[in-house]
Amino acid sequence: MSKGMIILITGPSGVGKSTFVEKLMAENPRLAFSVSTTTRVPRPGEVDGRDYLFIDEPGFDTLVARGAFVEWAPVHGHRYGTLRQQLENLMQAGRLPLLDIDIQGGKQVIQVFGQELVSVFLFPPSWEELERRLVSRNTDSPEAVAKRLRTARQEVAAASLYRYWIVNDDLEAAVARMQAVIMAEECRREAYSTPPLGDY
Ligand code: ADP
Ligand code: 5GP
Repeated sequence: MSKGMIILITGPSGVGKSTFVEKLMAENPRLAFSVSTTTRVPRPGEVDGRDYLFIDEPGFDTLVARGAFVEWAPVHGHRYGTLRQQLENLMQAGRLPLLDIDIQGGKQVIQVFGQELVSVFLFPPSWEELERRLVSRNTDSPEAVAKRLRTARQEVAAASLYRYWIVNDDLEAAVARMQAVIMAEECRREAYSTPPLGDY
């Protein structure tokens, strides 16, 4: 019986994380997206409780004071955090929580969890392609794109903290590599809570 694991995915804004995670989740029903709590306002089409738990600043302060977050961090002027209870509920249900969080949160989670954390850093194939994706998404001004590219340099500089590196060149191929990572991690001896044949 597999003990379960937590999957952490980080990569620069625009690398294709949302697209990658969506496809991955559609293919692997054991994965469960860890819905973060944020103080930012919902974008059109976003649903409270599905995309994020949207909360105001005092509400976020209360959760921080209660120690409800495994990690939290300010990202692009808003606060984002992962609720401890959320991860526990998913793991108890036998699901594999998948965290799509930034590098500051990633560093905290890497400190908190040990072997059960499968950390993956998602790279763009090149800086030029990252810029192209940010521009093609059409959600940011040229200044905001420039800022995201500067932040991306700092994020990539911390990629050595992560166990796996995946280049999101071709989406399908990148997701297939991620499935291979999950499959291999599930076969690790340490991932078993009991030996397959019981005690011997
Ligand atoms: P992130 O969540 O990392 O900010 P998105 O998932 O919003 O990134 O993707 C940014 C843009 O790049 C989107 O326009 C998306 O369609 C495109 N994209 C994502 N993955 C790929 C890929 N493998 N190849 C080409 N374009 C991609
Ligand atoms: P967006 O506002 O575009 O949805 O997300 C902005 C950034 O916040 C992304 O890099 C995303 O990975 C990160 N993020 C989302 N949820 C969390 C979280 O719970 N904690 C941290 N540290 N970062 C998060």
